Amino acid sequence: MNRVQGVQLTGLGTVTVPDDAPVPGLFANGRWTETATGYTRVIRCPADGEQVAEVAECTAADAGEAVASARRAFDSGAWPGTSEKARGQVLLRTAELLERDKALYARAEALDTGKRYVEAEYDIDDIAACFRYYGGIAGTDAGRVIDTGNPGSISRVVHAPVGVCGLITPWNYPLLQASWKVAPALLAGNTFVLKPSELTPSTAILLMETLLEAGLPPGVANLVTGTGPEVGAVLSESPDVDLVSFTGGLATGISIMKAAADTVKRVALELGGKNPNIVFADADRESALDNALTAVFLHSGQVCSAGTRLIIEESIHDEFMAELVRRAQSIRLGGPFDERAETGPLISAAHRDRVHAYVQAGIAEGATLLCGGYIPDTGALAIGSYYPPTILDDCHTSMNAVQEESFGPVLTVETFSTEQEAIMLANDTAYGLAGAVWTNDGSRAQRVAGSLRHGTVWINDYHPYLPQAEWGGFGKSGNGRELGLQGLAEYRETKHIWQNINPQPSHWFESPPAG
Ligand code: NAD
Repeated sequence: MNRVQGVQLTGLGTVTVPDDAPVPGLFANGRWTETATGYTRVIRCPADGEQVAEVAECTAADAGEAVASARRAFDSGAWPGTSEKARGQVLLRTAELLERDKALYARAEALDTGKRYVEAEYDIDDIAACFRYYGGIAGTDAGRVIDTGNPGSISRVVHAPVGVCGLITPWNYPLLQASWKVAPALLAGNTFVLKPSELTPSTAILLMETLLEAGLPPGVANLVTGTGPEVGAVLSESPDVDLVSFTGGLATGISIMKAAADTVKRVALELGGKNPNIVFADADRESALDNALTAVFLHSGQVCSAGTRLIIEESIHDEFMAELVRRAQSIRLGGPFDERAETGPLISAAHRDRVHAYVQAGIAEGATLLCGGYIPDTGALAIGSYYPPTILDDCHTSMNAVQEESFGPVLTVETFSTEQEAIMLANDTAYGLAGAVWTNDGSRAQRVAGSLRHGTVWINDYHPYLPQAEWGGFGKSGNGRELGLQGLAEYRETKHIWQNINPQPSHWFESPPAG
């Protein structure tokens, strides 16, 4: 996409940068804007440390400017005042443009995150599908008419946009998580300020240009890059922001909810997970084995719904684990464009070190290390922030490693001998995002799925999701839902309009004689 004015995505090598263009990062009033300080941040690919981009490191003052732009655009009424059908057309056009520019987007996402290019391509497909889904349902729900029981009055319940939305997103699926917020927010008629993770801002920068090209009026979409405590906090606290939707870690979610309390804004939180993957002895062995690997090691475990807790029937434990370990040890690590690689690095060396400390603590708690559990110190893997697939056996729900997210390629293993015990172990978590059950007994599959306190349950599968189906968590995995109709409802106010078509005095109060 060579029309991305001012975007210095150097690793992409496709972009023309006018000399006088601001370093991208603050997008307000429909254009890239100079920041208050001029500070910048270099984004580096975690696979090799090479520079990907240089972006603005915005401050609270810049975030305030982005919020003011979104506020003005909302209050002008131009975007909320268009028909939902017209807004849907912009989303459908956005989906087309994302597909046209898929290679650029996928490359930017792969370089920022270190994930395989082919995985980033799947992500862009999913992102386009999200815009297409919300564009496609435009105008299908205009609210409802209520029978008042009185022919002289009309009652309607209608939808209204919430207002200015602050959208704060993580680094693992940078544009995917943003699209789950941006698409429904726009369809509902809101304006927004997007704050991507400071580690992975490139595709959010590209999206601003794409939305303009799709016909979004200036000021409706705004962007501010920078750290959470500096610019994210402005979105939580500002009285000019009506809703904050956050995807990220539990501790950050709690601080955002507290910061938002004073302004009584709406808060939607999509947080972490400690997701059970239950395997019964009668499950199709090959499918359960193969998918147990994908469940936890996809994107090196940096997936909120990763199946990080294997809960396996005691009778097959030894045989199953021997094969699982054999396969885990042969998973090939490598950079985004290494065609032999099956998964990539962790997002940063600091994150890799945290994951390693978590594994060491798990071993100290009594877990048995079956594979992985070391920081590669030779060759290309030592240059990037790689960590090998790691399996901790002999785990128990009382262990920190079973209760806390590592957000890395770490699997804990627990055993059960009855269905009730499997359910109890799977639900013994403060989180409740997702989980799976593997069995060839259809009745048992339904019983277990019905008993799991998790927002998504897979039976004999792991990871698929649909833009039409709600995504979100029970418990400390969050209080919102994204995708589906409820993912749109998050961005709507509900308004009751009553009309008396034959107004008469009610005579509730006696009228005093005219004096
Ligand atoms: P994080 O909480 O560190 O950061 C997420 C975002 O919040 C970033 O943009 C960050 O800059 C911002 N932020 C940090 N402090 C802030 C503050 N005080 N005020 C406002 N914003 C602030 O999370 P992360 O490390 O980027 O992402 C990993 C986490 O995200 C994991 O816990 C993972 O499970 C979760 N996640 C959840 C889902 C889901 O759908 N439930 C999806 C993806 C990731």
